[in-house]
Amino acid sequence: MIYDTAIVGTGPAGVSAALTLTIRDKNIVWIGDPSLSGKVEKAEKILNYPGVAKTTGKDLNALFKEQIADLGIEIQDHMVTGIMPFGDHFALTAGEEFYEAKTVILATGIVFKVALPGESELVGKGVSYCATCDGRLYKGRKIAVICNNPRFESEVLFLADLAESVDLFAEYKDVSSELTDRANINIHSKKAGAVKGEGRVEGVETDDGVIEAEGLFILRDSVSMSTLLPGLEIMDGHINVNRSMETNIKGVFAAGDCTGRPYQYTKAVGEGNIAAHGVLEVL
Ligand code: FAD
Repeated sequence: MIYDTAIVGTGPAGVSAALTLTIRDKNIVWIGDPSLSGKVEKAEKILNYPGVAKTTGKDLNALFKEQIADLGIEIQDHMVTGIMPFGDHFALTAGEEFYEAKTVILATGIVFKVALPGESELVGKGVSYCATCDGRLYKGRKIAVICNNPRFESEVLFLADLAESVDLFAEYKDVSSELTDRANINIHSKKAGAVKGEGRVEGVETDDGVIEAEGLFILRDSVSMSTLLPGLEIMDGHINVNRSMETNIKGVFAAGDCTGRPYQYTKAVGEGNIAAHGVLEVL
């Protein structure tokens, strides 16, 4: 099936686009975290969201969820790892799923973390963003995993079942005992600083030296834009858009923090709405 639009990201910008397009009876696929945005959930107090006085992030997120459920909108619980033009539409890779859509709305938020040195160059040459897609290539081999969200721990365990050993760089606190108790998972306290290898991954550099690895899985709740959609115009670290939220790639729109400052809920929501209207015009 070719969807009218694929929305990538479930923060306020994605929520707004999904609501508008659903109300307009469009056939959407919405991909991201069903618990919505961690940036909303974490806000202690929100004083600038019109119509919702003195709310908390948790409460606002609950309202978003209620509204999504009321309209029967579903979220596909995956990270999109690649978007490619495919004739007159787009193909999106997400986990082991593959979606096709006439248009795309990028609502991925801001990626504070840029790609590691060596990461972009070695994608497909040992660097992978998808455990289920590429894990089997590393059966019985020594791999490294960078994981920034406990949401991906099941993928780390899947990899540990296949690989001889996993050097894990967990970028969050309280790694679960399922991982710490695993004999073949080595948890590092040092951060991964760079991906090393000439033409193929050979290891991960840390302050303590290079940890050898034949493959590196990067399980993050964001993917760098240049990796996600090659050719996408970026300016000062943000996706370049016009006032209709169109990017330089025809049929691809962007909304929210990923398009620039100010990083605010209402800007994200407004831009999600404009991007949805942009989609309605080109369909
Ligand atoms: P985000 O909320 O960042 O959502 C993006 C979503 O896309 C995330 O769930 C991410 O995991 C997902 N995603 C990214 N890449 C992919 C991919 N490849 N595939 C699938 N999903 C992907 N703003 C205010 O206006 N008022 C406030 O009081 C306020 N307080 C804040 C407090 C805190 C602690 C923080 C961190 C931020 C606060 N902000 C506040 C800013 C506000 O949170 C952001 O501006 C807003 O969340 C941006 O929405 P967004 O939809 O653009 O992106």
